[in-house]
Amino acid sequence: ARAGQGSKDSFARARLVFPDGTSRVTIERDPEPVYIERGSGSYVFDIDGRRFLDLNCNFTTLIHGHAFAPVVEALTDQLQRGSCFANPTRGEIELAELLCDRIPRVDRVRFVNTGTEAVLFAVKAARAFTGRSKIAKLEGAYHGAYDWVEVSQAATPDNWGDPASPKSAPFYRGMPQSVLDEVVVLRFNDVEGARRLLSLHARDLAAVVLDPMPSRGGLTAPSAEFIAAVQQTARENGVLVIADEVLNLRQSFEGAAARYGLVPDLVTMGKIIGGGLPIGAIGGREDVMKVFDASAGRPMLPQGGTFSANPLSMIAGLASMRHLDHAAFAHLETLGNFVRDGISRVIQKRGVSLCVTGAASLFRIHPMARAPIDYRDAYPTAGGAAVMKELTRFFAANGIILPYGAAAALSTPMMRADAEIIIEVFEGFLDNHQDRLEA
Ligand code: PMP
Repeated sequence: ARAGQGSKDSFARARLVFPDGTSRVTIERDPEPVYIERGSGSYVFDIDGRRFLDLNCNFTTLIHGHAFAPVVEALTDQLQRGSCFANPTRGEIELAELLCDRIPRVDRVRFVNTGTEAVLFAVKAARAFTGRSKIAKLEGAYHGAYDWVEVSQAATPDNWGDPASPKSAPFYRGMPQSVLDEVVVLRFNDVEGARRLLSLHARDLAAVVLDPMPSRGGLTAPSAEFIAAVQQTARENGVLVIADEVLNLRQSFEGAAARYGLVPDLVTMGKIIGGGLPIGAIGGREDVMKVFDASAGRPMLPQGGTFSANPLSMIAGLASMRHLDHAAFAHLETLGNFVRDGISRVIQKRGVSLCVTGAASLFRIHPMARAPIDYRDAYPTAGGAAVMKELTRFFAANGIILPYGAAAALSTPMMRADAEIIIEVFEGFLDNHQDRLEA
């Protein structure tokens, strides 16, 4: 969105204390970011008094929208009783029980504070359990800021290499060669490639880390054959399967792995399970999770953290997850289908070169006529990227925050009327840009 005067002034101040004026590379700026005053339900209000329907939801976290009353009440109560202790609280047991009951293959849990940490400890747990050091991951996929999973993250055409054997592309200058050597990159939906590469490196692989619908990889649907090939080859070779559910757990009551037939050994969670507060969790098979067990002395994998399982995140997550029942998921599924179908219908009617991907409460619009099947396929041309920038800007000008290059997220307070507005604004964009979008 174009920033108002208040945001412009704030950003000028911020640039004097942050290297680029922010603390997150993912903050959208055009050219300044929009500073937020408050959020309520599905809306945010900026410091210049403007209101936006929020389809970012803090990168898909806020599944009940902003300032969800049960979370606010639970947090207010907990704050009055203290915010963190060097002792456990009952809240962590209750949230762990909920996750163990709900998420298949999650027999035991450990809480941390971010998705990054969850992935980091899941990878280390797989290493400790198998005694091997390498991991395999999907090309382009995002799993947070742990070096090994950063390999090939946001890979660009100049460094992604041979399609049959993608390069372990460095994510930043100076990334150790030793890290690159420890990571095998697989192409999403490449059945034969996954079988071949996983078998080739089997003896050294601790785990294959995958998100069944990588958001930054295009939010493209996995083929059943691909999921089966990864899983089967991993199982045959004693390679653990880590399902990164940090973002896509919101795809169903049991998460996205269950939805796509992926049976993991370890599961990483975050975002929605914290109800809007920082959180991460590693869950998984009882025997694998034993690497964290310190009851008989030093565990195979010591894991702590000053704020791990802090009572505020536990209580907020519990309030949020308890309200995320089957009815809530059914509502989100219906709403998501309505939005994706509506957008597709408009695209068809106009015959423009755009498409929409996603599932459940998530969708992503692409500047191409046919739904991409993998990261390379979803990689936009310069012209396509420019169209997407304009789409995001047009949505903002019409009061909707639409994330650029990532998944848009619906939340439970959104209603049919909100979905209709999203489709209307999209059609309005086509009215203005039809000439540039002819198929
Ligand atoms: N894994 C996935 C799939 C994610 O989408 C994210 C965050 N977008 C992470 C890991 C990292 O989570 P966090 O930002 O909480 O560290």
